[in-house]
Amino acid sequence: MIKTYTPSHFEIFDKCPKQYYYRYIQKLFLPQKDDFTELGNNIHALIRYYLQGDNIEHLLKNTSSEVLTHWNNIKSHPIMGLESIALEWGFDCHLNDNNWLRGQIDAVFYDKNNSKYIIADWKSGKNIPENPPSAFQCMIYLYAFFNAQKDLGLNFSHNDLEFQYIHTLNNSLSPSPVVYSQKKEEIYKKNFIEIISKIEKLEIMPQIKQCKDKKCTYSALC
Ligand code: SF4
Repeated sequence: MIKTYTPSHFEIFDKCPKQYYYRYIQKLFLPQKDDFTELGNNIHALIRYYLQGDNIEHLLKNTSSEVLTHWNNIKSHPIMGLESIALEWGFDCHLNDNNWLRGQIDAVFYDKNNSKYIIADWKSGKNIPENPPSAFQCMIYLYAFFNAQKDLGLNFSHNDLEFQYIHTLNNSLSPSPVVYSQKKEEIYKKNFIEIISKIEKLEIMPQIKQCKDKKCTYSALC
């Protein structure tokens, strides 16, 4: 059977296998407390329309002051001056055997002065991972985009690709880019396969002796 994993699968399993069991095995899809907000959705949409060349003036006139504040910051970010080569790019990337990685990248830019491809992920809140190089979203996006280059008619080396979280309100909150490498590709693939192997063995509810996550959606069930 084909199995498809998203960054959320790996993030949740890594955080708590019991939470993974509730969500993906028992399929208890309770509302997540950190899911996309309306603010984030509106900013993502504005950026996409702008980058694909649509006239967004009527949207700006009818949007909230909060969204406008984010927009006025992000529109002057240097990355917005680069060539965008993919917007909300969805992928299914083969990993091994019957396992695939799935996701959707907000935007990919090409910096021709430095010959770099930059995967951008917009963040409008405080949900930027503390350590972007170890975030599954970062690892999966780098792995998938690099491996899709032939399908996309591109030809570049590992070091020509980087991933960057970009805060839409405050540029100083955007962490440094994560540059890809051959070594990272090997490590990422090994990590993905190892975590899938652990997920495949998760047949019964795992026992967690102590849980400090008082905000967990499933705390009432645990
Ligand atoms: S309450 Fe704690 S142990 Fe239970 S699912 Fe949530 S994070 Fe895991």
